[in-house]
Amino acid sequence: MEVVITKDILKANDTLAASIQRQLDAAGVYMINVLGSPGAGKTTLIEALDKALRGDLRAAVIEGDLATSKDAERLEQLGIPSVQINTGGGCHLESNMVAEALNGLKLDDTDIVLIENVGNLVCTASHKLGERLRITLLSTTEGDDKVAKYPPIFQRTDAIVVTKADLLPYVDFDMDKMVADAKKLNPDVKIFTLAARGDTPEGVEDLAAWIREHTMAFRDAQKA
Ligand code: MG
Ligand code: ZN
Repeated sequence: MEVVITKDILKANDTLAASIQRQLDAAGVYMINVLGSPGAGKTTLIEALDKALRGDLRAAVIEGDLATSKDAERLEQLGIPSVQINTGGGCHLESNMVAEALNGLKLDDTDIVLIENVGNLVCTASHKLGERLRITLLSTTEGDDKVAKYPPIFQRTDAIVVTKADLLPYVDFDMDKMVADAKKLNPDVKIFTLAARGDTPEGVEDLAAWIREHTMAFRDAQKA
């Protein structure tokens, strides 16, 4: 039965994800899974976050893509250590891919690992990768109805980051409705609104502060 096979594969994925988490806990490295549609602004956000966190936290990036290494090259040019995973057409990352990618990073010189998942609002939601935190992007151009239409990903995330907020006057995006839908699914979800593109990003600092807080709490927990 196909359903059973799918469940077994997911179970194997979760078991490996738990072992990745133990490995990173021992190394004192905090990993964040960044999810969202193609074009939601994941790479742009990661660039802006690295800039905001630099000096406090050393970030490294695992880039998931179907075919190219364009985003990893973009990050390398900015001096952000990154490892590319090409899924060969696969529509989400799995923990075995992340386990291998981590071998390509210097964990001793890393405080946080940001995973840029494949652009996809569906099956990325059901694959744990060993992360301690999930951030799901929703760009204003996608429309406020995506939370209600793709519930699992917004239910299983720690934060929703509304990107391209500078375009709000030009698109159909009802922020209050989106927030109400999100809180119905996930009462504890944190919601950030930002415009990360360009020389004067807005709202990135709040998200960076929240990540800093979580990373410090993680470190305290590891020491205890
Ligand atoms: Mg990207
Ligand atoms: Zn998939």
